[in-house]
Amino acid sequence: MTNTTHEEAEMLRWAREYAENHGWILNPDEKQLATVIRGLVRNRNKFGRAYCPCRLRSGDEEKDKAIECPCIYHKDEVENQGACHCHLYFQKP
Ligand code: SF4
Repeated sequence: MTNTTHEEAEMLRWAREYAENHGWILNPDEKQLATVIRGLVRNRNKFGRAYCPCRLRSGDEEKDKAIECPCIYHKDEVENQGACHCHLYFQKP
């Protein structure tokens, strides 16, 4: 098992637990889910923080705290659109 695979498995575990704690589910499409998880791990390795893979970083650390996963927008998005912008977290069907 490569390190990246291990990190992705850890990230997935964390995201699943977070979803469960909020009464949500993760994206049921495993391919899409894996892409988001991979993006989060890549950003954490590259930038030191698990920035949202679906949003643009400003480069300003203070501002970019808003888009560290779970970002400041996700609760509204899940509630109002059924899923967060990246389609990581979903309302239960
Ligand atoms: S949109 Fe979803 S995946 Fe992206 S940072 Fe927010 S909660 Fe995380």
